[in-house]
Amino acid sequence: VKGKAKKAGKIAKKVESGAVIGAGIMGGGIAYQSARKGVPVVMKDIAQPALELGLNEAAKLLSKQVERGRMKPSAMAGVLNSIVPSLDYEAIKHADIAVEAVVENEKVKGIVLAEVEQTMKEDAILTSNTSTISITRLAEKLQRPENFCGMHFFNPVHRMPLVEIIRGEKSSDEAIATTVAYAAKMGKTPIVVNDCPGFFVNRVLFPYFFGFNMLLRDGADFQQVDKIMSKQFGWPMGPAYLLDVVGIDTGHHAVEVMAEGFPTRMGKTFRSALDVMFDAGRYGQKNGKGFFQYA
Ligand code: NAD
Repeated sequence: VKGKAKKAGKIAKKVESGAVIGAGIMGGGIAYQSARKGVPVVMKDIAQPALELGLNEAAKLLSKQVERGRMKPSAMAGVLNSIVPSLDYEAIKHADIAVEAVVENEKVKGIVLAEVEQTMKEDAILTSNTSTISITRLAEKLQRPENFCGMHFFNPVHRMPLVEIIRGEKSSDEAIATTVAYAAKMGKTPIVVNDCPGFFVNRVLFPYFFGFNMLLRDGADFQQVDKIMSKQFGWPMGPAYLLDVVGIDTGHHAVEVMAEGFPTRMGKTFRSALDVMFDAGRYGQKNGKGFFQYA
């Protein structure tokens, strides 16, 4: 991957400043990571409290870096100042690249991406952090689909090394190379994948969740499965806990997308534990209750 990132660097456009649209869990994390690695960003949202939350989160992460001796206290303010919060689009007009990270709703994303494209420079690269929506379909709303591709980070952004760069039907090599180079600059490991339901990671992960749901349907105890997969098998966490971290609502939605995309392999044939959790409003760590109880 390092070799590929180097090769991509040759046709990549310069990225000296970025923009992140949406200051939620993901947008806040992406803005922090970019600033931390020396690429200043404008963080745009429609809600002031969201911007404040994003900035506070970045400040907390930076303080930890200082506590652990990984950053000089004097450098912290500089990094924090390189995340510029904004409620309007004007501030993003000089950015070289933008990562859209607003809610996972195709209609909203379509509107936001078109607005961002209209504001940015003609040659700026536009990306989306969508987990489940087709990049080729999102590109249909754009004037310059060649400048657009997927840039899929994982939660929590500052800890997860992988970033999927998704090539839509019209994404240019330049757009892909620039996004790969930006991810590498952010200290991440980029992989380029084709546009399909689940991209790469969720095509591996969701059959695992599917197997977990089948075990529960057959009478297994989720706590026992989690204990075996984490403590005994040695993975960092079991499937129930992982679903609580990802978000039961997010996981539930992704299952629908996978079932639609791969009906013979991933089709929904029974009411799963995930359906039961979702219907009961147990969304995982985000609202304090999922498979496990957090509050
Ligand atoms: P979130 O709900 O935490 O944040 C979304 C943010 O978008 C909110 O701050 C909201 O105010 C803002 N927003 C809504 N409409 C907007 C608009 N028109 N302009 C600007 N900002 C707007 O969501 P999240 O979990 O950060 O997810 C964001 C995206 O990242 C989604 O596409 C999601 O699928 C994807 N994603 C999420 C995860 C995850 O684990 N949470 C992982 C990978 C990818």
